[in-house]
Order: sequence, then structure tokens, then C-alpha cells
Amino acid sequence: MWNPIKAISNYKEKKKLYKEYKESGYNKRRICIVKLGRQRFDKEVSKLSKIKSKLFSVDVVEIDHLEDAVDGGSTFRTVYSKEMLLNMLKDKRDFINRENPLLPPCDVTIGIIDYSVEGDSYGFCLDENESIYYLSLHQSQKILEDNHLRIRNFCAIAIFRNFLRNLAQKRIVHDESRACLFDKCADGKDIFLSAENPSVCKLCREDLKKQKVDPKIIKMVELEVQPFRKERYHSIRDFIKRNKVLSIIFAIFGLAISIGIGLFTSFLYDIITSCS
Ligand SMILES: [Zn+2]
Repeated sequence: MWNPIKAISNYKEKKKLYKEYKESGYNKRRICIVKLGRQRFDKEVSKLSKIKSKLFSVDVVEIDHLEDAVDGGSTFRTVYSKEMLLNMLKDKRDFINRENPLLPPCDVTIGIIDYSVEGDSYGFCLDENESIYYLSLHQSQKILEDNHLRIRNFCAIAIFRNFLRNLAQKRIVHDESRACLFDKCADGKDIFLSAENPSVCKLCREDLKKQKVDPKIIKMVELEVQPFRKERYHSIRDFIKRNKVLSIIFAIFGLAISIGIGLFTSFLYDIITSCS
């Protein structure tokens, strides 16, 4: 539930961190989102350029036409190879950097594709420098729909995750789902955990610190990523669906409290009216 006290304390903490940042001379990183070919969710993806962050800027560019994909075998699917994506994204990044030499070069490039990628993974790092990634909406769309997650939010959370990986220069990930930005969610079923309340778990925090990532940056990521978490309405609805027995107990408990308050109020009313 939305907690006004927590929201105020988050706001104050954010303001303090930003002030410290200004003084430390931190240079904003540059993140380039590349829309790869046809995009069914073009509007959602294009909105990523509107992300307001003190840590990085986001540019959204596109590659209109894709080369022919690799053979999808007997499934007749269109499947792109990771090597093909890496080459396309590398070329695009170099082109962007050459085209605007006055702008800082792209630190992180993320390709968003609406086709299958070999290995049936919905997102992966493609280079050794933790600077080029892809996200497959084709692979993740069903999981997102089933869990009532917005595509824009899913992509935004991936931006924050890859921003931290790039700073750490390490592929931070774990198999266990801990509602952490670095949950692997290999089969997708646990995506909702980190989407409901995206944060960095204790072990990943330690890992990032070991890689010399300033703890203030980790804290800022946790605060800045909050607007992209799952909408409260859907979180509560899905919680009820997943925990039917617990929800019935809560409902009975809530009803009992309401009846108790009602009885107490009428009892007070009786006392007041009998005294007057
Ligand atoms: Zn973690």
C-alpha cells in the first residue's frame, strides 16, 4: 500500500542524494535504446526517452529494417541470432557516436526486438564489456500480460539493471528469485516479484560495492526505479488471486473490525444521548 510517510522520507533522501551528487561532479551516463525492426509496442518503447534520471540520459533510435533471420527450423519461426544482434547494435552505436561527436558516447546500448532470439531468452548481455544488451518483447509479452506488467515498465527496470551492471563491469545475476533487480527469472514466472517492488538484494549490494559502485548510486537506482514498479491495483488483485485463503482470512478480519467499530460507535452514541 502507498505509504505517505515513506514517500516523504524517500523524497527527502532523494533530494539529499542529488545534492551530494552535484557536489561530487558525477557525469551522467548515456543509454541508447535501439528499436530493432517492426515494433508492435512502439508507443511504449518510444516513451522510454522520457525517463527522468539524474544518473543517465536515454536516447531512443531505430533500425528500420532487419537482415533475414536465421532458420527457425521446423517451427517456421523467425529467430535472430545473438551474433547478428550484437553486430547490428555495435554498428548502430558506432554510427551514433560518430554522428554526434560533441555528445558523450553511448555507455550502454540496449536493442529492443519483437521477434524470437536464439536460446529463447527474453534478455541478455551480448558483449564482454557489459555495454550491449537486448530485450525480446516477443519472448516476454505473454509473461507480462499474465502478470499485468506494462511493457514500458519492464523495459525501464531493465535499463536500471543494465546501468548498474555496466558500472560494475560484471554480469551480476542469481538463480534464486529475491525480488531483486538481478533475479534471473529464467522461465519468466518470477518476473512479477522484482516488478512489484524493484530493489537490490543484500548479496548483490555487496557484489556491487566490491566492484567499486558507490552505495549512493545503488540507493539512487532503488529510488528512481520506483515509479516503474507494478501498479498497486494490479499488485493487490494478483496477490488476492495467488493467496486466496490468506485473502479470505484478511477479509473476515477486516469485517470483524468494521463490525466492532460499528458496535463501539453505537455504544458511545447511546451513552451520549442518555447523558443529554
Ligand atoms: Zn540480488
